[in-house]
Amino acid sequence: MLTNDQLSLWDRENFFHPSTHLAQFARGEMPSRIIKTGEGVYITDRDGNRLLDAFAGLYCVNIGYGRQEVAEAIAAQARELAYYHSYVGHGTEASITLSKMIIDRAPKNMSKVYFGLSGSDANETNIKLIWYYNNILGRPEKKKIISRWRGYHGSGLMTGSLTGLELFHKKFDLPLAQVIHTEAPYYFRREDQSLSEEEFSAYCANELEKLILEEGPDTIAAFIGEPVLGTGGLVPPPAGYWTAVQDVLKKYDILLIADEVVTGFGRLGSMFGSDHYGIEADIITSAKGLTSAYAPLSASIVSDKVWKVLEQGTDQLGPIGHGWTYSAHPIGAAAGVANLKLIDELGVVENAGTVGSYFKKAMTEALGDHPNVGDIRGEGLMLAVEFVEDRNARRFFEPSLATGGKVAGALLKRGVIARAMPQGDIIGFAPPLCLSNAEADAIVDAMKGAVGEVFS
Ligand code: PLP
Repeated sequence: MLTNDQLSLWDRENFFHPSTHLAQFARGEMPSRIIKTGEGVYITDRDGNRLLDAFAGLYCVNIGYGRQEVAEAIAAQARELAYYHSYVGHGTEASITLSKMIIDRAPKNMSKVYFGLSGSDANETNIKLIWYYNNILGRPEKKKIISRWRGYHGSGLMTGSLTGLELFHKKFDLPLAQVIHTEAPYYFRREDQSLSEEEFSAYCANELEKLILEEGPDTIAAFIGEPVLGTGGLVPPPAGYWTAVQDVLKKYDILLIADEVVTGFGRLGSMFGSDHYGIEADIITSAKGLTSAYAPLSASIVSDKVWKVLEQGTDQLGPIGHGWTYSAHPIGAAAGVANLKLIDELGVVENAGTVGSYFKKAMTEALGDHPNVGDIRGEGLMLAVEFVEDRNARRFFEPSLATGGKVAGALLKRGVIARAMPQGDIIGFAPPLCLSNAEADAIVDAMKGAVGEVFS
């Protein structure tokens, strides 16, 4: 077996890691971690450290690690048929079954599933479909997409543009001209502190309407948003937000993409965030929880309304000019079928709701009064703790102090993985949906210790 030292050397010499400080990593100024096994909510690295993964990888391992049922389904599929494409009407038992399972679980107006490999490619697909839709309807000017500051939708050219975080734009010549951003529904960071949640939602909807009118409603094709802001800070929407936004979109005939890459398949304690908040989307993006990341797979779930126009388009133009070699890859599809069965059998959607409430209450009891804790917020098994320098003045720490990163580091020393979110001192938790109350307590205990260490 290779030694850890040998692997670390090869790692620094050969491996281009995503979302990593490349120079520091290459120089050996930051640690690498080589993960070996996973079981339930725990992973173990090659040094033998067992860590409670309170971020489920990248909020994707919904059913938890080490589920043999999914591993067996993948192996069986690989033995029977590792690959065949899905162009010109081809499929497999797994891909056809999975499309039915998704439509059965999705909101009622959903009609068809296009399979990709990642959240990013699914959102690229969605924007292409929407441009095609408006061309078929004879509205070639209606093409711009509105996304929110702090939204996260991927890191491709279009999806990196949709993402409303500075780091994903700077020096990449993004955002592209067709993408514009509007106010983030981030109640804790609202400028006008006198606003109630409902008033802030009305303000966000009003800002959206202003932007639409400035740009011209006939130029706006769609609005994209995550039911709960994820990478931008794990921020549930303020009361009334989705109703207020949807009223504006309907008024100007603008399509709605619900990006449920994180919230799809249980994270909020509902199968979809759209059900949770009464969102009536025209397209839903899904990935992560669809296979619990046991294999790469994404789904663009398309509504009846959009589907009918796509059909009309192919009657005019011939086959749709869109597809990947690995669309509906049989191994991903087999993982998806086994995963969705397990999600039902284990009852993890309900568990996310009940343990999520317990977790938030326990975290609030432990840290709610701490002078450097500005906000504790969450929904289901998405929870964030946001730190401030001065709670009463709501003054934030200097970013260069990397306070959030220090808390994440102190948590890691205590055996818990959480994520320091970008653009703020925000510690995010999004554990596997099978988390128990006792495991939630362990995270809260580690957090108490970490906060005590960093703010002593
Ligand atoms: N959309 C949302 C809401 C996400 O959180 C992510 C990834 O975290 C993506 C899209 C992009 O997915 P991927 O990283 O699989 O391309």
